Amino acid sequence: MTQAINLGFPRIGIRRELKQAVEAYWRGDADASALQMQAKALRHRHWQLQHAAGADIVPCNDFSLYDHVLDTAFLFDAIPQRYCALADADPLQGYFAMARGLQQDGVDLPALEMTKWFDTNYHYLVPELEAGQAFRLRGDKPVAEFLEARDAGARARPVLLGPVSFLLLSKSIDGSDRLDLLPALVAAYAELLGRLADAGADWVQIDEPCLVLDQDGDDHAAYRDAYAALADVKRPKLLLATYFGAIGDNLALVASLPVDGLHVDLVRVPQQLDEVLAAIPATWTLSLGLVDGRNVWRTDLDRALALARRAHAARGGERLQVAPSCSLLHAPIDATLEHQLPADVLRWLAFARQKIEELRILADALDGMVSAQGSLEVARERIASRRASKKVHRDDVAARLASVEGADSARPSPYTVRRTQQRARFKLPAYPTTTIGSFPQTREVREARAAFRSGKRSQAEYDAFLAAETEACVRAQEALDIDVLVHGEFERNDMVEYFGEQLDGFAFTKNGWVQSYGSRCVKPPIIYGDVARPAPMTVRWSQYAQSLTPRPMKGMLTGPVTVLQWSFVRDDQPRERTCRQIALALRDEVLDLEAAGIGIIQIDEPALREGLPLRRADWKAYLDWAVDSFRITQSGVRDDTQIHTHMCYSEFNDIIEAVAAMDADVISIETSRSRMELLDAFVRFRYPNGIGPGVYDIHSPRVPDQGEMTELLHKARDVLEAGQIWVNPDCGLKTRGWKETRAALVAMVAAAKALRSDTPA
Ligand code: GLN
Ligand code: ZN
Repeated sequence: MTQAINLGFPRIGIRRELKQAVEAYWRGDADASALQMQAKALRHRHWQLQHAAGADIVPCNDFSLYDHVLDTAFLFDAIPQRYCALADADPLQGYFAMARGLQQDGVDLPALEMTKWFDTNYHYLVPELEAGQAFRLRGDKPVAEFLEARDAGARARPVLLGPVSFLLLSKSIDGSDRLDLLPALVAAYAELLGRLADAGADWVQIDEPCLVLDQDGDDHAAYRDAYAALADVKRPKLLLATYFGAIGDNLALVASLPVDGLHVDLVRVPQQLDEVLAAIPATWTLSLGLVDGRNVWRTDLDRALALARRAHAARGGERLQVAPSCSLLHAPIDATLEHQLPADVLRWLAFARQKIEELRILADALDGMVSAQGSLEVARERIASRRASKKVHRDDVAARLASVEGADSARPSPYTVRRTQQRARFKLPAYPTTTIGSFPQTREVREARAAFRSGKRSQAEYDAFLAAETEACVRAQEALDIDVLVHGEFERNDMVEYFGEQLDGFAFTKNGWVQSYGSRCVKPPIIYGDVARPAPMTVRWSQYAQSLTPRPMKGMLTGPVTVLQWSFVRDDQPRERTCRQIALALRDEVLDLEAAGIGIIQIDEPALREGLPLRRADWKAYLDWAVDSFRITQSGVRDDTQIHTHMCYSEFNDIIEAVAAMDADVISIETSRSRMELLDAFVRFRYPNGIGPGVYDIHSPRVPDQGEMTELLHKARDVLEAGQIWVNPDCGLKTRGWKETRAALVAMVAAAKALRSDTPA
């Protein structure tokens, strides 16, 4: 019998119960046992839900109070010195201190660094390791959760992050080689596996997602050594799980490891099935990742079945499992709760629960059960209706896309020509000052929006409120003597949602939360159809703000790559095509802003870098279409219209050529946290256009003084031309209060002015 097995379930709860519970604990409104009780209730509910949806085996130890990589570090006692005393005295406090830092009673513990989990929007905490690091089991979370599942009547398979991926995802704080720690770490894994076997676990899912990355000879040796060391210990059988991409050139290595089974992602890479079938031992169990674990669409079950049947024909049904492509951590929980969605769109969606139902159908169909036929028929009908929908496929959008020509992604003149015209038009001083767009989203602003959305405030009242906020913001910037102003973005809740709500082809869920990190969840829009812009989106507020001041008012848009990256996207056409559709819609907005007299327009692309594919070999193709999409958005304007872009990250070195190819007249970037290290990129590569290296970190309430900013600007001047440099904070100010914002901007403007007086313009 083919088994339907899940690899991981969202932890947060359909109503974000886990978020409420941990935040109550952090605030001191609930104690540890209340938190643990809520966590336990969620685990039970989720196991039950998965079995009810048709899973034969459910995952356990996939649950986490904050992050599963942090759990792994904690479990093996990879706890940096600074947290040890606390972790010994109160493990839960120690755990959360690693996650979030702790500032209390004179203690000041910075948190572990956080970074993106592969190419998802989930963020994990980066374990800190050092030479000679000892590992031991601290607590027994995986065993306890396995026993808990069993007691709850669930048939559970524990999930562990594998030792090699754990080390590769960690960072060494002393420059030592993380992989040197492997023998010590593997010994602790061996002990854990023994305990799981004693507890009655027959299988363990051991995740080695790094096997889909570019791995070198040392990495390969590490996998070989790790699994050789685990080959002969007392342990459950090991299902090695890979996901998020192709095993590719790591396949021969994988097939040589002494494990008992393999999970492969056949959603991202269906074409890897045949080589996997050819490579792996006949005795292994093969888990087929057939249902997309990180998107929201119903699976084309016929297509999935065709793949599964190939595996079935090659190996028989005995050791075959059907599974999602990866953990369902990245999907919302239940689509049936989204009644407010258009009925057709709703029928096309599958969240975690529906995905498990699909696995059941696949397993039954594979086993030839007649009962599966009816379900397949319904599924077929849903896929067909999506394929035929005029809401999804619009002739006007297709025609527009087909008509795009090379000239549409190039400004009429090169930057040097544009620069001359823009200088003549705007007459800005040297080291012009500006901000990144948003000003403080105070409680008042958020309350006004909530009141408007719930109908407690009329449109007219809300508009009057926004107008007053915008005017106050303009006056504040004038008083600060900032050169290029912004309207403040008070009308925006979120930089993607605000645009999605005004574009065709987007839908929004009520409960479609996915975990971003810790207790923070996001509700990404769903792009279900061809994207078009029925009417201008931002012109009104930009135009109003410009009418208040003689200074240039910067129009503010979110760029096509960022809109794409922070949404659930269509799986029925390449990402590239969706991105170009968004780019064309935004191009019209740029042109409307220009026609309305807005001379400077910023197109934010903070997510450009995070869209990079996992394998280097795929970077160029991505960067080509991502950069081209940005260029389509910006290129319709006149030479004397100035296009800005903004990116908030500092790892810049490896994509600087692509960033330059975007050909924005001015780019603002994060540099303050990295103390301008990123400017190294500009030593190697002469970035030609204007550039605003962020001179202070807006992520902290700390107000830097003028001296610090001057010092950073001097560093910038060492590697850039004085005439290139803009002066701005490193990101939008929406999370800050007015008091610290004002103080920081006073210092920033003073730093710019001081620089002007010692440099000829
Ligand atoms: N314009 C946006 C803002 O200022 C940019 C936000 C971002 O970079 N993430 O809020
Ligand atoms: Zn930013």
